[in-house]
Amino acid sequence: MDSALLLAKYSIGVGDRFAHQGKAQLQACIKAAESGVEVIPVWNKSNREHNITGSSPCSTRAAADEAVKALSWNKPYYVDADHINIQTVDRFIEASDFYTIDVADVIGQPAEFAAVQAFVKRHPELVGELLIPGVDRPFRIDTDSIVQVAAKYLAAVQEAGRIYRHIEEKKGRGKFITEVSMDETDSPQTPVELLMVMAAVADEGIRIQTIAPKFTGRFNKGVDYVGDLEKFSEEYSNDIAVIAFAIRQYGVPGNLKLSVHSGSDKFSIYGPIHQAIKKFDAGVHLKTAGTTWLEELIGLAEAGGEGLDMAKEVYSEAYSHREELCVPYAAVIDIDPAKLPTPAAVNRWRSEQFVAALRHDPKSPAYNSSLRQLLHVGFKVAAKMGTRYTDMLTAMEPTIAKNVTENLFARHIKPVFIGE
Ligand SMILES: [Zn+2]
Repeated sequence: MDSALLLAKYSIGVGDRFAHQGKAQLQACIKAAESGVEVIPVWNKSNREHNITGSSPCSTRAAADEAVKALSWNKPYYVDADHINIQTVDRFIEASDFYTIDVADVIGQPAEFAAVQAFVKRHPELVGELLIPGVDRPFRIDTDSIVQVAAKYLAAVQEAGRIYRHIEEKKGRGKFITEVSMDETDSPQTPVELLMVMAAVADEGIRIQTIAPKFTGRFNKGVDYVGDLEKFSEEYSNDIAVIAFAIRQYGVPGNLKLSVHSGSDKFSIYGPIHQAIKKFDAGVHLKTAGTTWLEELIGLAEAGGEGLDMAKEVYSEAYSHREELCVPYAAVIDIDPAKLPTPAAVNRWRSEQFVAALRHDPKSPAYNSSLRQLLHVGFKVAAKMGTRYTDMLTAMEPTIAKNVTENLFARHIKPVFIGE
């Protein structure tokens, strides 16, 4: 099956909520190519984001195709149906060629007893001392712990198989890239759990190319990682080692790699990720999304005049509707209400003040992570403005595009794929 789509070693997921930044985003991949590193763009948009902005998957496809054509990008690119499940997948069949099958909600749902027993029987290699190249200490696994992990994850992997086969039936074998995501859940998966999940994924026959586990630490929207960096680094390296082992042991596709759902801007783990992929010669898919929408606001504010007025209007509306806007993202934001400036105060800001508060420069004293998180989840406000907002994006394009490209290249692509 030589025509099967295979995701390259390095890829970046970008989100373009209002379908106006495709070219500016692709420009960041072009800059990477100019630095000698191939980073393949994947435009991702979840069903939730489509519902909030009132868009459809074909608009993501159209914007991606247009950007690729305009900039004569001759390498692969994909359109990711991000975080789909069996209820939402169908509207993405035509437009997407990358599917992030989200089974986090099924984790913990009991699998059939017979299926758990069959899994244990099929995988005697997991029992005992398992020494995985690249992992310091052997994993000690007994049958009880396999039963426990299988009971926790088997139903989720079976559901992933059901969705995978559904997509395959509609699109054809090898015509799409498959990611399985388990990041939107309460507790992180250990490398041992990840190994068993991959054994189960292989049993299901899922041609998985990227897997998004939940990592240790907090991945809040739009702001930096919060957690133990050393622990993260060890876990990340062990996950890579486990994936390499699963490729040999279970015959999952040889290009399988980790997908990091960053929730945007996890700057402090980018260094450890870069070191780990270099050390193991591994690939990575870095998924970002909302960071680009915030660059639109930064660009509007930087443009001044009407652009700045609109950025202030978005903040004011987001501030008044903050409770409602935060509900869908409650688990992944930590906003300190006391740190949110009042709209009246923001309305007095000059362009530089707005930009400095919003731009993610952790070293800047003016940077306000609560304001940034609120605006990150506040794209519904701009969506409600409709063409008034998107016309302004067009009018202020040069200022916005510069920020979008620079943000993706300098703050994301460079530290993760190229190294500082
Ligand atoms: Zn995710």
